[in-house]
Amino acid sequence: MSDTALREQICVLAKSMFDRGLTGGSTGNISARTADGGLLVSPTGTSFGRLDPARLSCFDATGRLIGGDPPTKEMPLHAAFYETRGTAGAVVHLHSCHSVALSMMPDADPDNFLPPLTPYAIMKLGKVKLLPFFLPGDPAMGEAVRGLAGKRSAVMLANHGPVVAGKNVEAACNAIEELEDTARLALLTRGMGARGLTEAQVRDVVTTFDVEWDD
Ligand SMILES: [Zn+2]
Repeated sequence: MSDTALREQICVLAKSMFDRGLTGGSTGNISARTADGGLLVSPTGTSFGRLDPARLSCFDATGRLIGGDPPTKEMPLHAAFYETRGTAGAVVHLHSCHSVALSMMPDADPDNFLPPLTPYAIMKLGKVKLLPFFLPGDPAMGEAVRGLAGKRSAVMLANHGPVVAGKNVEAACNAIEELEDTARLALLTRGMGARGLTEAQVRDVVTTFDVEWDD
């Protein structure tokens, strides 16, 4: 994909998420690998509803800022995914309401944050790691992601929001939307004795679709 098309795609998909209430105000950030090994990143303090393709922060392959506005302060978080997951072509972070609510539940499983409710969440996200609370911009968040050694494509920052890596911008956005939808389903059905997938059904999905699922 050309640099121009990638810039457009980042802004169009970010706006789509903003328009559907997936991250409000100036929250959320997004980054993508460029064809020459650099990175395009949403600038600090910008709204997903109004990203300007021409002003995205642009890094060269050595990590030097070569154009655009200063990047999001969550840059260490994005960098940690690219460093540990060779397949990562894009990283998205949202402040999405239902997943944040679910991260506050006392019975949330830190190793497998989303209950197994639908096959697509398993296929697109694998196991989502619930990380503890960090101050916004704390480089320790990046360290926590590095500690996962590239084994997870999706993490949930407690009381803050999800971060998902994908092979490209579209895949990362689709996966983080699946995460938020599943968190919403979990809250909608909470305490109602809903039937999730059985262990055998989860195993079937994992093997049939070759899901990364360390256990
Ligand atoms: Zn954030």
